[in-house]
Order: sequence, then structure tokens, then C-alpha cells
Amino acid sequence: MAENQAVPAQNQPTAEWLEQHARYLASAAWEERRSAVLQRDKYQCQARLERCTQKATQVHHLSYRHWRNEPLFDLASVCWVCHEEITRMDRGKLVEIVTKRDLEHEQFLHFWEAGLHREKPSEPEQSG
Ligand SMILES: [Zn+2]
Repeated sequence: MAENQAVPAQNQPTAEWLEQHARYLASAAWEERRSAVLQRDKYQCQARLERCTQKATQVHHLSYRHWRNEPLFDLASVCWVCHEEITRMDRGKLVEIVTKRDLEHEQFLHFWEAGLHREKPSEPEQSG
């Protein structure tokens, strides 16, 4: 947990983070990444949600884990309609997504452990 530049873990980003983010989005470094991503995706929207215009003009963060030093695979070209929709969904569902991920992880551990136990010889599964 030494990521001191990462997005705050709360559901809502702090005003301070938003300000830093706005400054980052105005920087030359972001402009360079942004145009590299748009060129990579050939200016085609990668979201294709309902009402998609298909013409990508914006770049969406798939993850903020590497914020301000994003590998290009953390970024995707999107049209403005899809971007608005994604932002809206992310904002409303952040808690839900995080909770769900924890649940899935627990389920995974559960199945994994069950699998380990199954490897041990237990009762022979033969029908009589
Ligand atoms: Zn779109």
C-alpha cells in the first residue's frame, strides 16, 4: 500500500485529487499518451455502447492504478457519448463493483480450497 500517488480508496475522489487530475489532463505528458491511444485505436470508439457515435475523441482510463504514468493498455479510445455513459455507470456502481469483486474472490478461494480437498483420497465414488 505504498502507492501515495494513487486515487484515494473512498468512493468519491477528493477535491484535491480532482484538481491534480485536471492539471494532469492539461499536461503535455497526457496529450502525448492521449494521442498515442487514439492513433492505436484508429479513432474508433472501443466501448460501442448504445447510441455510440463510433468516432473516438476522448480517452478513458480503464484503471487509475498507474495514474500519471499509465501504460497504454490502461487507456481506451471512446466517443463522447460512451464516455459519459461509462463515467455515469462507474460513479453509481463503484461500491457495487468493489463489493462484487470481493464476493467473487471469496467464491474463488472457496472453490480452490474445495478443489484441494478433492485431490485427497476420500470415499470412492462408485455406485453400487
Ligand atoms: Zn462510443
